[in-house]
Amino acid sequence: MLTGDSVLLADHWTEACKELRKKLGNAAFKSWIKPLSPSHYNDDSSGVIIIAPSRFIKDWVCNNYVEQIRSVLAGIDSRVEDLEIVISDGSSLSSLPEVTSCENFEANKPNSVSEFTENLSSKLDEHLTFDSFVVGKSNELAYAAARRVAEADSVVFNPLFIYGGVGLGKTHLMHAIAWYIKKATPWRKVAYISAEKFMYRFVKAVRFRDTVAFKEQFRSVDVLMVDDIQFICGKESTQEEFFHTFNSLVGNNRQIIISADKSPSDLEGMEERMKSRLGWGLVADIHPANYELRLSILQVKAQLLKVNVSKEVLEFLAHKITSNIREMEGALNRVVASSTLMGGEEITIEMTQRVLKDLLRANSKKLTVEDIQRKVADHYSIRLSDIHSPRRNISIARPRQVAMYFAKQLTVTSLPEIGRKFGGRDHTTVIHAVKKIEELILTKPEVAEDVRLLRCMLERD
Ligand code: ADP
Ligand code: MG
Repeated sequence: MLTGDSVLLADHWTEACKELRKKLGNAAFKSWIKPLSPSHYNDDSSGVIIIAPSRFIKDWVCNNYVEQIRSVLAGIDSRVEDLEIVISDGSSLSSLPEVTSCENFEANKPNSVSEFTENLSSKLDEHLTFDSFVVGKSNELAYAAARRVAEADSVVFNPLFIYGGVGLGKTHLMHAIAWYIKKATPWRKVAYISAEKFMYRFVKAVRFRDTVAFKEQFRSVDVLMVDDIQFICGKESTQEEFFHTFNSLVGNNRQIIISADKSPSDLEGMEERMKSRLGWGLVADIHPANYELRLSILQVKAQLLKVNVSKEVLEFLAHKITSNIREMEGALNRVVASSTLMGGEEITIEMTQRVLKDLLRANSKKLTVEDIQRKVADHYSIRLSDIHSPRRNISIARPRQVAMYFAKQLTVTSLPEIGRKFGGRDHTTVIHAVKKIEELILTKPEVAEDVRLLRCMLERD
């Protein structure tokens, strides 16, 4: 391209932009036209090649603005008859820009997107959205990253890798991203699939000698989400195929979102090169939810079920079922279903205990009096030996009473046994301690707060 031509084109483009801003309004201009940049004239200068930073912008511009841009440019430079938009590829994996003209896009118009999605993507659960996701300390990073990726119209970090234990909300976040993108930009092809299903499809494609179609399908998506990637650990050929799909998509600036039960480097049976690729973008982990978050989630779930469950019952569930959110939600569902089945039986703590007997037993932690003594001593910064000692100083006696209170509340130890474990005290001393703390919880906010904190700590472990 001649240098003079490129200067000319740049000038013309600047002028065209001014006009397009007036025509389309600031918002549309900023979203769609500003990201474009002129590349060069074609050989006889009758056409202009424009570069879009992503497929998504290119498709949208082709579909909505190409005619306006062409006519504005033709008004400025009468030689211009045609316009071609190509995608720039900033990635190091593939140096060639993907050149597809706007005409090609016709074949991929939005009405084919839903057809495509049905073919490739698993069904999305309508309840799993950002709105129904409760954010707390343990999941705020993963949530923020998920939102960022969902809201961005170009690739922010690739891949987004979300990991954490079972039932902590990974799939929920993946669905939420998919819903968001599908709603905000319905023309983008979003494929959400479990790694298991990915493998199943791959194996089937190999068996039916249909791998070319398989590759094409997966490489044509704008957003690829693969859930539970740990499933393909140790599955070499599926990993190999996924590796190539991954590279091709990243190379074409398409967004990839992955979930797993472990961090990339901890995925045993995953090839080193794959582990390293998976850690390229943003790695966000989800930790087990604390008591407050568990309670908020239960409140949201109860609302979704459109049932009135008392705060005490929700608190009881949040205290007792600490393993994971799925199990806790399942418990709530069971209680609500039983109540409906029993003709609307009132949901009380007793009823909940009855319905969830097995589950509660499995979740009951073997908290010992010794654990309690250690935690309480720690909390009040006294020595463990003080708890057993005969000292009656209030700074020691009060923590000792708190520890007795918890020993009674949170373990099944008998009162005389508790007394023995507290330096050979009488069971009446234990009863007195429990009563005293119950009273102080009501009258002294600082004691109530200490007890609340300690309870959270003791029940979390
Ligand atoms: P994972 O994929 O990590 O095993 P899921 O995403 O399937 O876990 O979550 C299990 C259940 O818990 C789902 O019903 C989900 O809606 C719920 N859940 C998990 N975390 C949250 C949260 N922060 N807010 C609301 N619901 C949640
Ligand atoms: Mg999951």
